[in-house]
Amino acid sequence: MSASAILQSLTEMSHYLGVESRGYAIIGEGNTSARIDADHLYVKASGTSLATMKPSDFLAVNISKVTRLLDSRDATDDDVRETLKSSLVDEQETRMPSVETMLHALLYDYPEYNFIGHTHPVYTNSVLCSVNAEEAISGRLCPDHIVVMGRATVFVPYVDPGLVLAREVRDRVRVFVEKENQPPKAIALENHGFFALGPNARAVTNITDMAEKMSHILVGTYSMGGPQFMSAADIDRIDSRPDEKYRQERIA
Ligand SMILES: [Zn+2]
Repeated sequence: MSASAILQSLTEMSHYLGVESRGYAIIGEGNTSARIDADHLYVKASGTSLATMKPSDFLAVNISKVTRLLDSRDATDDDVRETLKSSLVDEQETRMPSVETMLHALLYDYPEYNFIGHTHPVYTNSVLCSVNAEEAISGRLCPDHIVVMGRATVFVPYVDPGLVLAREVRDRVRVFVEKENQPPKAIALENHGFFALGPNARAVTNITDMAEKMSHILVGTYSMGGPQFMSAADIDRIDSRPDEKYRQERIA
């Protein structure tokens, strides 16, 4: 994919996620990114809105320059700002990349990801801002839930946004990959929102749509006595069935 095709796809994905009637993001909420190459990404500029993004509203950022700060234990808020600024490919750029750029950047360590969408969907956050957040997000409700979102979702308890959150996400994704032998398709942040991760823009919108629909259903199940999650054996079966694998590939 050429840089301009990536930007076009990223812009369209952002518009889809930013449509107000979907309830995924309003005003300046959410952020999106796409991989340019092994060490560069495009990310939404801070202060822009998903619904009205133009290709020029995305900034090219050097991935290893941003993620370097993750291992610096006593980094301050000023260090974060400085690092974000110095990671911009265009040295003349005066705008700042999204505050969550570090989080996006560290996820591109996994070659499976080319597009990432972060939103604050209404039903997903109804679940994630509830006392049952971790339990509710841990299960699978029906076969399509598994086909689109995989066997499990990474849950991240609330921590300070920015550097601390980025480190927490990095650790939890590593644990997930060790256990599941594959990178996650989704990350749920308690009291915050949702990350969809995919090889292309379509996968990101599909995962976000499915997460929001399943969260809507979850809210309903809690009014009916609680969710009846699928068993581990049934999840394994759907995840390994050849016809469901075919469906997974077609959808992505
Ligand atoms: Zn957010």
